[in-house]
Amino acid sequence: MPASHNILRFLNVTVRYGRTPALEAITADIPCGSSTAIMGPNGAGKSTLLRAILGWHALATGEIRLGDAHPQHLLPRLAYLPQRHTIDWDFPITVRGVVEQGRYPSLKIFRRPSPHDHALVDRALDELGLTELADRQIRMLSGGQQQRVFLARALAQGADIFLLDEPFAGLDLFATEELTHILRAWAAQGRTVLAAVHDLELARHNFTHGVLLNTTLTAAGPIAAVLTPDNIDRAFRHGHCVHDDPLRPARSTEFPR
Ligand code: ADP
Ligand code: MG
Repeated sequence: MPASHNILRFLNVTVRYGRTPALEAITADIPCGSSTAIMGPNGAGKSTLLRAILGWHALATGEIRLGDAHPQHLLPRLAYLPQRHTIDWDFPITVRGVVEQGRYPSLKIFRRPSPHDHALVDRALDELGLTELADRQIRMLSGGQQQRVFLARALAQGADIFLLDEPFAGLDLFATEELTHILRAWAAQGRTVLAAVHDLELARHNFTHGVLLNTTLTAAGPIAAVLTPDNIDRAFRHGHCVHDDPLRPARSTEFPR
């Protein structure tokens, strides 16, 4: 198989909300089987980049390709974990119930989950150490356990490319450590992890590759080459990073929706 089959490729990608660009002319290659941290200040376009891969945003220019295909044609390969605050943690559902949702897209209409589906769910629960918690309501879990439940759902889906939006946000030190272990093991097994990461030092020590952006691309490639003082300075001190100034009001006042 030519190498291009195993590359997630952004070619001149622009995404706009109304007239405001959230991503502008992004060109980057992401090797599959790597773990890539998407980094940049608040409002840099990290979430937009992940959602664009799923085909949720029309591209104003450019294209995104997975190997030789559009990723939307390969959706079962892609699993998405939204930012924590977008999930309703009080929804009455068990751990197993959430993980079973990973199988829904693969079920034919009116078909009940097969033994194969159940086996995949059991395996995902086991891999993430959730077997004992399978019948618990998700609202009863710690933040780290909840995050693992959604990783298990992604695994049960049978995906090999994982798009994680700020998976470390809101986790304590122990849960952060645990999650870095899981993601490193996944990458070592040839799974592709693409995660929006706020903490640059955490990214430096736990990801093989990086994409640093602030609407436009600052740098992409092996993590050490991306996270140079100069690149960090360019992404965080110049351009559109006014949102990150703690003395400024929330950015929602600047970007009417
Ligand atoms: P990040 O995840 O890096 O914080 P986002 O991708 O969420 O950045 O946002 C990039 C830019 O697009 C920001 O300026 C943000 O305010 C704006 N934006 C994000 N989502 C929307 C939306 N649904 N409508 C309008 N503007 C949006
Ligand atoms: Mg975001």
